[in-house]
Amino acid sequence: MLAENLKTVQKNIAETCKRVGRDPSEVTLVAVSKTKPESDIQEIYGQGIRDFGENYVQELVEKIDHMPNDIRWHMIGHLQRNKVKYLARKAASIALIHSVDTYRLAEEINIQAKKNKTVIDILVEVNIADEGSKFGTSKEDALTLIQDIASLDGIHIRGLMTSAPNVKNAEENRTYFRAIKALAVDINSRNIDNVEMDILSMGMTNDYQIAIEEGATMVRVGTAIFGARNYQKK
Ligand SMILES: *Cc1c(COP(=O)(O)O)cnc(C)c1O
Repeated sequence: MLAENLKTVQKNIAETCKRVGRDPSEVTLVAVSKTKPESDIQEIYGQGIRDFGENYVQELVEKIDHMPNDIRWHMIGHLQRNKVKYLARKAASIALIHSVDTYRLAEEINIQAKKNKTVIDILVEVNIADEGSKFGTSKEDALTLIQDIASLDGIHIRGLMTSAPNVKNAEENRTYFRAIKALAVDINSRNIDNVEMDILSMGMTNDYQIAIEEGATMVRVGTAIFGARNYQKK
């Protein structure tokens, strides 16, 4: 069943890319497995997926310890500074932290990266629709934050991440995806040392096709692959 869900998502990604003249290899599917059991991850892993996204540090660390070691794990949830050390110890398994939105958090990641003699790839999370309920830097503050973080040599900035509003009609989010893409182009044109803008992490179950049309290079899809989440019974 999960394999069928995955096939549908992959087909949608391929068709969307084709429609807008993009190569599907430009878009990485991150399977968001938060709250889901390791047996579900195994099943999707068996289908060839190697990028998995998690939101909670403790759950992520446990899954890293139990699951195959060629998985590229993505930390996509809000990250507290006091949890960074647990992630940094697993840096070899963590491909990317998507959710860096303050200098203080970046500073802690930098400290812990150095302690573990590594460099950690991150995205800067932008709260593109200025939603009070969401984390992320504002669009206006993103450049300054990136310029500040760029000086931390235990961190490598790879791009931007956003979560668009939860809307009924995904088309409504197109304007936000376009704004993030424009912001990335602008930041990229400034050629800041230690800053790349090659990753745009945007698009979830409801809106990944629109996000791809607007330039997403990474989509984070949970429900469409693993089914609805039950937060009581995790
Ligand atoms: C849970 C989550 C997702 C996946 O959401 P779905 O709607 O289930 O696809 C993507 N990104 C973030 C940041 C999430 O927290």
